[in-house]
Amino acid sequence: MEALSAVIRECRKCPLWKEAHHAVPGEGSVTAGLMFIGEAPGRQEDLTGRPFVGRAGALLETLLAGIGLARSDVFIANIVKHRPPGNRDPREDEIAACTPYLDHQIRIVRPEIIVTLGRHSTRHLLSRIPVAFDRITDIRGNVYEATIADHPVRIIPTLHPAAALYNPAYRTGLEEDFAAIRAELAVAGG
Ligand code: SF4
Repeated sequence: MEALSAVIRECRKCPLWKEAHHAVPGEGSVTAGLMFIGEAPGRQEDLTGRPFVGRAGALLETLLAGIGLARSDVFIANIVKHRPPGNRDPREDEIAACTPYLDHQIRIVRPEIIVTLGRHSTRHLLSRIPVAFDRITDIRGNVYEATIADHPVRIIPTLHPAAALYNPAYRTGLEEDFAAIRAELAVAGG
């Protein structure tokens, strides 16, 4: 994983590196049963080179603690590894250029469960099944069987923690979905 992270830090396959301070390859346990995939680095992540720091990261850690896990127990990554300027949405060509790295990470970690955080990572991962959806609130907490990067996995979509910082209803939704994650981990024996 370290060798892959080094390649990502030097990557110039799409224009996103140009305005970024650091690549954010992802981090955590490389033997984790649970992998979280968000959209793209934000400002704090770009400055530190680490995924899910700042307030959204703190909320993610609180939610993990609620199901008996620490950040170091899971692997956390994004579908694109450099921050889009001004936190704009990543474009399709940028996602296509970058997601082979995500696939490589999935092949290394071989998680039982992938949790997609927010609509962009959910749309990308569920397109591999394929499952289409209009609003993430319609499908969050569902469990989808999939094969990603030749690896059988269950995908559970949920909301992005950043969205829940400003919307208490989303916080409740996240807590419900984390309860579903805990139940699925119990099925997996994790
Ligand atoms: S966003 Fe991904 S594909 Fe684009 S330069 Fe960064 S690592 Fe490479």
